[in-house]
Amino acid sequence: MEHITVKEILEATGGRLLCGSADTPLDHLSIDSRTMKGNDLFVPLVGEKVDAHRFIGQAFDNGAAATFTSEHDVMDDNRPWIRVADTKRALQALGAWYRRRLNLPLVGITGSVGKTTTREMVACALSAKYRVYKTPANHNSQVGVPITMTEISSQDEIGVIELGMSEPGELTIIANIAQIQMAVITNIGITHIEQLGSRENIFREKLSIQDGLTEHGILFLNGDDDLLKKTTAREGFQTIYYGTGENCHYRAVDVHLENGYPVFTAVCGEERVPVRLKVMGSHNVANAMVSLAVASVCGIPMRDAAERLAEFTGFKNRQQIYHVGGMTIIDDTYNASPVSMKAGLEVLNSIEVSRARVAVLADMKELGPDSPRFHYEIGTYIAENPVDKVAVLGELAKEIARGVREQAPGIRVYEFMDRESLTQWLKTELREGDTVLFKGSNSMELGKVAAVFLEKQ
Ligand code: ATP
Ligand code: MG
Repeated sequence: MEHITVKEILEATGGRLLCGSADTPLDHLSIDSRTMKGNDLFVPLVGEKVDAHRFIGQAFDNGAAATFTSEHDVMDDNRPWIRVADTKRALQALGAWYRRRLNLPLVGITGSVGKTTTREMVACALSAKYRVYKTPANHNSQVGVPITMTEISSQDEIGVIELGMSEPGELTIIANIAQIQMAVITNIGITHIEQLGSRENIFREKLSIQDGLTEHGILFLNGDDDLLKKTTAREGFQTIYYGTGENCHYRAVDVHLENGYPVFTAVCGEERVPVRLKVMGSHNVANAMVSLAVASVCGIPMRDAAERLAEFTGFKNRQQIYHVGGMTIIDDTYNASPVSMKAGLEVLNSIEVSRARVAVLADMKELGPDSPRFHYEIGTYIAENPVDKVAVLGELAKEIARGVREQAPGIRVYEFMDRESLTQWLKTELREGDTVLFKGSNSMELGKVAAVFLEKQ
């Protein structure tokens, strides 16, 4: 936040000052009483397990300059306590208010998988011409997005904001806070199907990103997604499709993988630009195409944007490739859904190997009642795109093993219920020349297993 006083916070949130001075300057927001950056407003969130109001004292001890409260009505302190009805709503009101003071275009990115990857690639392409702000870490929630807004500086020329969603109505709230000029929907999968019921519901929810699109906004849709390609933006907005299909305004042709890395030609109208990526897997073709499309709409020639993208090498735990002790390790342990697990397996399959291809796969969480079927279908995918060995970790992943056994009896499958025994098995099994994919939901902590082998680097 730049140059804000408590008085302005009161205006933005409709809060009431219980004590302290309204002229107190504030520069940052913090929801964690342990970390203050200087002149922070502490926001005590009320969670299911913890009510952070009890950390207000600690926040002040650690240097907070002011605090929200929804608990106290009267206070006697020389520091500002701001009374609001609901601290999370107040945080959102402040984020929305702050965003409206900023005068820069924002690109909002949503979709079932690939939001963070796309955000990074779009930001990379835009950096060919602009000073770009991008959502840090994975701050894409009802809490993360308003905080993100307050961290944009007046020096930034454009922002790329990740907008997540795990329950109905959530995207409307956060897109409204962000007030975006461009919206991207990467795909419609089945992540969070537990909360939303069906893929059609997820599709409808994702389209509500348009609730936060400003006048003459542009909606970028993945033209290769069966649901998105049949959709157009609401009246008053423009639709731009990207992908590999003929329907796409920004289209990748002659796509092939060279040792796992996509090589293709990006086409828009008469313009044709050769593209080579340093991130693996054909799913990154779509991520690259939307990056070129957004950059191009923002006045960057596709050729310049493609040059920048060619330098993008990805980031931690998302299909990072390491060469360690003669082995190739694909660390894709950040998270997993059926779409991204298949994408990881595709990468494993497309790499040239000197010995065995080993897939180490853990449970994919939050897939609802059809979860066993989704796991079994990964087994089917492996039978169609075979690897040499499969090791699975967790109760749900047993269905992956069953799928492989029933449909590709030639592939060796090993089952584990804990990380220690999986690690031991890998230690005895892996040899120089092997290529290993690690993939599973974050909570399965497969990254810790991968780390054991990466340490040798
Ligand atoms: P989250 O909801 O956890 O924030 P996200 O939508 O930000 O996830 P990423 O972290 O970018 O998604 O990617 C998740 C996984 O999906 C990674 O393993 C990545 O390699 C893979 N992936 C990235 N882009 C795509 C895509 N367009 N299609 C399929 N898989 C993808
Ligand atoms: Mg993300």
